[in-house]
Amino acid sequence: QIRPALPTPKPWISQIHAYVPGKSKGHDGRPLTKLSANENPLGTSPAALAARAEAAAPALYPDPDSNALRAALGQLHGIPAARIVMGTGSDEILHIAAQAYAGPGDEIIYVRYGFSVYDIAARRCGATPVVAPDADYGTDVDALLALVNEKTRVVFVANPNNPTGSFLPRGEIARLHAALPSDVLLVLDQAYGEYVSPEDEDGAMALAQSAGNVLVTRTFSKIYGLAGERLGWGTGAPHIIDALNRIRGPFNLSNSAQAMGLAAVADQSFVEASRLHNLATRQAFVAELEQLSNHGIRPLPSEANFVLILFEGNLTAETVYNGLMEIGYITRWLPNQGLPHGLRITIGSKAQMDEIAAEIRRLAQ
Ligand code: PMP
Repeated sequence: QIRPALPTPKPWISQIHAYVPGKSKGHDGRPLTKLSANENPLGTSPAALAARAEAAAPALYPDPDSNALRAALGQLHGIPAARIVMGTGSDEILHIAAQAYAGPGDEIIYVRYGFSVYDIAARRCGATPVVAPDADYGTDVDALLALVNEKTRVVFVANPNNPTGSFLPRGEIARLHAALPSDVLLVLDQAYGEYVSPEDEDGAMALAQSAGNVLVTRTFSKIYGLAGERLGWGTGAPHIIDALNRIRGPFNLSNSAQAMGLAAVADQSFVEASRLHNLATRQAFVAELEQLSNHGIRPLPSEANFVLILFEGNLTAETVYNGLMEIGYITRWLPNQGLPHGLRITIGSKAQMDEIAAEIRRLAQ
């Protein structure tokens, strides 16, 4: 047999479209106000920033198990630290969850307009991604369940979902879980979970503690304002945490990440201020946009720190994307995610959102 001239990636690796992050610059390379990656407009807790200086020396390896941080998270959420696994961002948890439970010949289900990493995570381990139809851009539990078969190993649901902002209420999450076979891992991705109003809480965290097949993932990248430090975590039954701990990166959270994460968890006043800022600013922004419905402009209901706006009339999402760049903002236009008519805008400051709403109104008229 003739060997190939070069190392050849596995065929399923060659089929992956690499993740496309939200941009921070305009077409001409000009830096713009970035509302394209759902980062926290309030920045980072001052206590977390101060903790950076106190972190263990960079010459030393970090605590491989992030013990102090897991203990703090466990205390905050009322769950045993042993049921928590840390990841280099929640992206790492999503990838290792797919890898631990699925491989070639297996299927991983997620909904259309779901978070783009699910496709990469499924393909990376050689499994087949199976995409369920949405229900007006939201997650359709029945459509997901209809695709479950004996090959199904993992189901990914983001709640709230990115990029749509859609949210499944507690009853729907419970119904999905109850109907899934117990050997299918249900990953409930709560990257935006802290933005959800307490009265709308979806029960995912409790389900991850009581069920044997649920993994909840969370991140410090959004409400905690630590996207650049790469901290995420997952919680679920001990056997799930054990499997993920076997394959995660051995020192996957840096010294500075662990120190800043610990201080950030202790500063819940920053988290609450971020949540309240987001809620008020998002509601006002959506109310402004709803006045433009006669121009085919439709902001989708969102429980997250962004809004997906659909442009279904004469004004196109591309025109608005370019127009907002002209006035200094980079947002997320989504033609590559099947949403050429969709523009996702992170909730920034009140002044920024007012300026953006005014510009969209101007472009529509
Ligand atoms: N899940 C969802 C739904 C997201 O939107 C994101 C961030 N874009 C992530 C997970 C991953 O975030 P991180 O790796 O920064 O924790």
